[in-house]
Amino acid sequence: MNEQQKTQQQVMKPTTKEHLERLQQLHNDATYEPPNLKKARKRLKKDVDIHYDFSIPEDMRLIGENQTYYIRTYGCQMNEHDTEVMAGLLSLMGYTEASEMKEADVILLNTCAIRENAENKVFGELGHLKPIKKENPDVIIGICGCMSQEEGVVHRIMQKHPFVDMIFGTHNIHRLPSLLKEAMFQKAMVVEVWSKEGDIIENLPKQRKGKLKAWVNIMYGCDKFCTYCIVPYTRGKERSRLPEDIIEEVKQLARDGYKEVTLLGQNVNAYGKDLPFDYRLGHLLDELREIDIPRIRFTTSHPRDFDDHLIDVLAKGGNLLDHIHLPVQSGSTDILRVMARRHTREDYLDLVKKIKAKLPDVTLTTDIIVGFPNETDEQFEDTLSLVETVGFEHAFTFIYSPREGTPAARWKDETPEDVKKERLQRLNTLVNKQSKKAMERYIGEVVDVLIEGESRKNPDVLAGYTKRNKLVNLKAPKSLIGEIVPVRITHAKTWSLYGELVTE
Ligand code: SF4
Repeated sequence: MNEQQKTQQQVMKPTTKEHLERLQQLHNDATYEPPNLKKARKRLKKDVDIHYDFSIPEDMRLIGENQTYYIRTYGCQMNEHDTEVMAGLLSLMGYTEASEMKEADVILLNTCAIRENAENKVFGELGHLKPIKKENPDVIIGICGCMSQEEGVVHRIMQKHPFVDMIFGTHNIHRLPSLLKEAMFQKAMVVEVWSKEGDIIENLPKQRKGKLKAWVNIMYGCDKFCTYCIVPYTRGKERSRLPEDIIEEVKQLARDGYKEVTLLGQNVNAYGKDLPFDYRLGHLLDELREIDIPRIRFTTSHPRDFDDHLIDVLAKGGNLLDHIHLPVQSGSTDILRVMARRHTREDYLDLVKKIKAKLPDVTLTTDIIVGFPNETDEQFEDTLSLVETVGFEHAFTFIYSPREGTPAARWKDETPEDVKKERLQRLNTLVNKQSKKAMERYIGEVVDVLIEGESRKNPDVLAGYTKRNKLVNLKAPKSLIGEIVPVRITHAKTWSLYGELVTE
């Protein structure tokens, strides 16, 4: 603890018994704000306000001097980017990043709720944190991210892991400085999870992970409510940032020398639907392509909102890359209906046809769930045939995982687990085969590769990505890290390419 913290500390940390007593009182305590999935489902008409006046509270500006933080991130790019924001907030408070969790003064677990497996990992990590807290009671342990938005999770943490100091959700990340202060000087666990989404807070600081590739949020939340998905509950209603704020952020990244920007949203194709003027993702990309930044990607797309104008803009090329990640989830219209995906197999195939007509070299990748409750063999075969018809070059494939609070979690499922596993294996075999075939087509071709650094497996080899998101390994001088260079592909594996630098 630094001097400022010592002078401000008024109370000792509680014992477990005290903590449990406090737990009993919390439900009547107005300052305790737990999540509520029913409330999170509501979509209120109220407009979202945009705030440009964020600043760190005066008394928290130096609180982290000579102190360190460690954030462990689980899940998607949205979470990765939230972690960059939290790291930015902590560094404005004087904290620096610790290289190891056990050495940090503030430890945050930025959690993911998409699958049971992801949640189990977090609970496993909490088991490791208990002895760290015992050894150093001053360390502040916080749980944030999507799991914090789930009632069941918050109650479990409060009951079984009372050494946790604070729990906050996805809508109030900007409140981290104030919550940290409360956790430091308050006896009880600080719980502040807003069930209703917050406003949009611009100008939040960001400690970006790299100097080449950057994430830019273009919107938050999701209104689709697919029956298996917890995201609309944990991330709230769709809220789009204003185009001028996004454009300015991308321009600044270009000025800072970034080579690639990925626009983020749970459903980026819904961008602009909530804006009071006619402006969608296609319009935004059309403006962004004028910015002098070599590569612009976006993720994740929903087929339903992928409009013709967007396809026309993507066809203009330039810095807009022809790789589209387009989750389909199932190839069976019946399953898509019970998933409430709002598109059929035929709608999806028509969309792919339209995209390929305008972008003949496009790389399509997808997400697929197998073993959705009561999926039949026939319905699964429909998925396999759709994968073949579209020719996906990569797919994130999963066995369905029930998420408490979603409609599908209440459905009885007769499909045995071993059948689901066997289906996943068959699907993966097909996807791998298609990936290898797609990779082999590059042999002999010259592709532009953004060299990101040394290969993780071999420091003598450099690695980077093509416009279509293919990993390429090559031997080249390290001075080329950060550059986009031409590479002739000589060899292909299922998930990566190998090549030589083209020098003439
Ligand atoms: S569109 Fe995506 S984020 Fe939204 S509910 Fe469906 S699967 Fe979840």
